[in-house]
Amino acid sequence: MIDFHCHVDLYPDPHAVVEECIRREIYVLSVTTTPSAWHGTSALSEGSMRIRTGLGLHPQLAHERKRELPLFDRLLPQTRYVGEVGLDGGVESKPHWSDQLTVFEHILDACVSAGGRILSIHSRRAATAVLDALERFPQAGDFVFHWFSGSRRELARAVDLGCWFSVGPAMIAAERGRDLVARMPRERVLTETDGPFVKIDGHPVHPWNVDHAVTSLCRLWSLAEHETPSLLKENLARLVSKP
Ligand code: MN
Repeated sequence: MIDFHCHVDLYPDPHAVVEECIRREIYVLSVTTTPSAWHGTSALSEGSMRIRTGLGLHPQLAHERKRELPLFDRLLPQTRYVGEVGLDGGVESKPHWSDQLTVFEHILDACVSAGGRILSIHSRRAATAVLDALERFPQAGDFVFHWFSGSRRELARAVDLGCWFSVGPAMIAAERGRDLVARMPRERVLTETDGPFVKIDGHPVHPWNVDHAVTSLCRLWSLAEHETPSLLKENLARLVSKP
């Protein structure tokens, strides 16, 4: 199983979550929301071959944490993964739009200078602006849209740009989400949970709950039960083995 966008550090008992992920052999991209969280979060999974920690600065925190950009730059050489980063066009974030743009463009520029990274990208109500930014920094690396919720047209643009997509149980449970997933090239799809923010039956999801998304993908793609996990694993292998 693959959970390519999970906030491991934000569970009440992150050590227990890490141990269970190791026991179940789940591949996890453990994203962070601030550069100052990176050290502690990567220490949680030290020694685990399948858990990687992304260096992030969440768009909803951009205005409060922009002073951590120098720390971001210092830490960037230590990881291949960047996230959670991006832009958020929601009403509560829109007042800080210029800070969001400054932070996101700084990060993309830093990724270009570092030779490219794998990025887990937030684009809620901001898909066009995110795509515009990615087009300005095509050398920033490989872009993985997390929980893409834009229009069909924006999705087509992202596909043309070579972007990847991580899809989770909540996205695929909704008809609109399923319609988008059906339009994604399946060789560029991964699974995610966005735990612990996403809840199923009132409980925060855990990385092993990606099985809900895998089952839905199986149905959507009309594949046999064993074929979907192996397709997803091939996708992950292809993404991370790029030079
Ligand atoms: Mn998230």
